[in-house]
Amino acid sequence: MPHSQPSPDQLTHKIPVGISACLLGENVRYNGGHSHSDYCDKILSHYFDYQKFCPEVAAGFGTPRPTLRLEGNPDNPRMVFSKNSEEDVSDVFMAASNKYLENLSHLDGYILMKKSPSCGMERIKVYQENGHPHMQRSAGLFTKALQQRYPLLPVEEDGRLNDPALRENFLLRVFTHHDFRHSLGEDAKMKDLIAFHSRYKYMVMAHSQPIYRKLGRMLSGNDKRPFNELKTAYFDILMTTLSKPAARKNHCNVLMHLVGYLKHAVDVSVRKDILDVVEQYRRGEVNLATPVTLLHHYLKHYGSEYINSQSYFIPYPSPLGIRNTV
Ligand code: SF4
Repeated sequence: MPHSQPSPDQLTHKIPVGISACLLGENVRYNGGHSHSDYCDKILSHYFDYQKFCPEVAAGFGTPRPTLRLEGNPDNPRMVFSKNSEEDVSDVFMAASNKYLENLSHLDGYILMKKSPSCGMERIKVYQENGHPHMQRSAGLFTKALQQRYPLLPVEEDGRLNDPALRENFLLRVFTHHDFRHSLGEDAKMKDLIAFHSRYKYMVMAHSQPIYRKLGRMLSGNDKRPFNELKTAYFDILMTTLSKPAARKNHCNVLMHLVGYLKHAVDVSVRKDILDVVEQYRRGEVNLATPVTLLHHYLKHYGSEYINSQSYFIPYPSPLGIRNTV
């Protein structure tokens, strides 16, 4: 049976999330300014306990400072000051970043500043001797090292958080990452992993039915790996699967399954009304919040403890209104 776990609406603590310091208004940019993000600082801060860091300041480059850029091999670029590419500062920069990266295993997510040769997540230019950028782009050096060291940590750029689908997916992963770490601590047993899997049935199904079945087989007793190995492998597959936003048609499949739980509880005309709303969502006439809220309303009254424990209903705090946008 699923364990009773606080949903994101019931959490009494904030979730630890790393962030580029300039996004919180710290004057750490090369020009002595900041890149304050209202959404991060005023909205997500209600739920996130931020740990801010500026890798360029940590490397001792000072503020203000000359601009930096990446040069050379796009697979392994070096960091230089834009006006003095003779001086390779990669080692100094990475020494400070690597020291900081040693102790981030408590984080459940990381928000990064876009376009920075240090913090950018993608599309960072890597300049060549001819003065032009290589066609292949890179991640900033800090972010590259962060993702190498913590490959399953949900990471996103502040600019991409303006995209409703990417924002939804990032928050889903942050809260799932947090839930997994709390539900499956050091003393966790197989029954805890099975309970977690049970609660995440419809969430995983919305992303991939084959993966849901694969994870179920891992926990069926036939997989003879030691528990900690199995737990690690489960988490790896889970986070990788969730990293791609769920398709609308997959949500529709999940919603139809959920309507099935009302079969003996409500009149056929009520079920038809709910299915009509699912079809409206399939056609893009209403957002995801509409069918999910309607279904959850009925299932709270007529559904089992099992179905009401599904993380699919409240994957992130409801006041964020995320499902009104996807
Ligand atoms: S983008 Fe990163 S390196 Fe640049 S100012 Fe912000 S925190 Fe510092």
